[in-house]
Amino acid sequence: MDAYTCTECGRCTAECPANLTGKKLSPRKIMMDTRDRMEEIGKSRSDAKGHDQKFLLGGFISKEEINACTSCNACVEACPVLINPLDIILQLRRYEAMEASGSPASWNAMFQNVETNAAPWKFSPQDRFNWAEELKNDR
Ligand code: SF4
Ligand code: SF4
Repeated sequence: MDAYTCTECGRCTAECPANLTGKKLSPRKIMMDTRDRMEEIGKSRSDAKGHDQKFLLGGFISKEEINACTSCNACVEACPVLINPLDIILQLRRYEAMEASGSPASWNAMFQNVETNAAPWKFSPQDRFNWAEELKNDR
C-alpha cells in the first residue's frame, strides 16, 4: 500500500545522501518500481499464467541500488505522506543476505566478525582495550 500511496514528489531522493553523492540509489524509484512490479504480478495472475519468473530484485531494482543505502532514515523523515522506502530496501537486502547469500564479500567478512567478536572488527572482545594498556605503558 505504501507504493500506491507514493505521490512521486521526490523529496526522499532529494534528501538521500547516497543519491546526493552520485550513487545509483533513488528511494523514489524504489517505491515506483515496487508499484510497477505489483501491477505486473496482478496482471499475470488475472491472465492465469502463473508465476512470470520475474522478480522485484534483479528485474526492477538492482543489488547496486540496495547496497548503496546507508540506512540513515532521511528518506522516511522527508516523506510528506509518512511512507517508508527504507523498509523495502532493508527487506530486499535481508533477503539477499539470508536467503541468497548474495552480499558483497567484504560484508560477509564483517558479518562473520559480528557473529564471532560481537563487533565489525576482526579483534577479539578481550583485546579491545589493548590500546589503553599501551598508553599506560607509554607514561
Ligand atoms: S535510508 Fe537509504 S534510501 Fe533512505 S535516505 Fe538514507 S541512504 Fe537514502
Ligand atoms: S517523499 Fe514519499 S511520497 Fe515523495 S516520492 Fe518519496 S516516498 Fe514518494
